Amino acid sequence: MKKLISYVFPIYNEEGNIDLLYKTMVDLLEKHSSYDYELIFVNDGSKDKSLEMLIDIQEKDSRITVINFSRNFGHQIAVTAGIDTAKGDAVIIMDSDMQDPPKVSFELITQWESGYEVVYAQRKTRKDSPFKRFTAFMFYYVLDRLADIKIPRNTGDFRLIDRKVVEVLKQFEEHNRFLRGMVSYVGFKQIAVSFDRDERHAGETGYPLKKMIKFATDGILSFSWAPLKLITRVGFTVAGISFSGILYALAVKIFYPEASVEGWTFIVISILFTGGMQMIMLGVLGSYIGRIYVESQRRPLYIVDTIYSSSNK
Ligand code: UDP
Ligand code: MG
Repeated sequence: MKKLISYVFPIYNEEGNIDLLYKTMVDLLEKHSSYDYELIFVNDGSKDKSLEMLIDIQEKDSRITVINFSRNFGHQIAVTAGIDTAKGDAVIIMDSDMQDPPKVSFELITQWESGYEVVYAQRKTRKDSPFKRFTAFMFYYVLDRLADIKIPRNTGDFRLIDRKVVEVLKQFEEHNRFLRGMVSYVGFKQIAVSFDRDERHAGETGYPLKKMIKFATDGILSFSWAPLKLITRVGFTVAGISFSGILYALAVKIFYPEASVEGWTFIVISILFTGGMQMIMLGVLGSYIGRIYVESQRRPLYIVDTIYSSSNK
């Protein structure tokens, strides 16, 4: 029996890419006929014609499953739903905008066949805007310094994971997901395959700045206690500065009582400074407490409206 490879494609407003993506995939799958394939498209609350287009190709191709979310749950959750549904011996996660070249996925399969359980595609080059590159660089730099695990640089979610890893990932119930961190965390034999990342074929990025900040926060807070430790350190520093301020104020009062009113500036600055510091530190605490709150609600990760697949007709 042939091995089954599952592809997972998260879809958010990709009407301009679905046809090309599907056509490219069909051609490639034909050329590599030594495997069976399953293509899972997760429609993450698209507002355009994506769902209609997906249902259309699903009706003609029994290898396709379309999972339609009841609303937009975000890229990481869409990928999770795909992984949960996949039946393959290996699961390949790819973006649907042609930025991750479909043909590279076969290089991932080759490495998998030689015994690796996680094969991640690493970008040699990328064609994103300077802003995106700069923010991505800063994010990975900070993450690298703070996180308790090593997350390979220049990787997205384009990767292949073995069935074993899929089963482990299914046990992760956290809501604020940072999949590439989770995949690093699980261990197993991992290897990189490098590739040149293309430009988005059509449409706009589904990651505006707001989503990028949420994503970066999830990455750092999920895999690091550093911000919490930082609170203590900054707390000590500020307390130290305040203490010398107190000594100064007392000294002025005792030795130069006539000049003591000059301390006004100093007082205002120190009050504002400590106040500001406290707000920041409360914010850090709040970020973690918020996560505890979300996890304690134990809500389902995503809500499926309909599944279109050949097996449930
Ligand atoms: N995506 C999604 N839900 C979202 C945002 C994006 O499923 O809320 C999908 C999108 O369709 C694409 C992938 O996630 O297949 C990566 O998104 P995008 O290309 O917009 O991100 P970028 O490449 O700009 O970082
Ligand atoms: Mg993209």
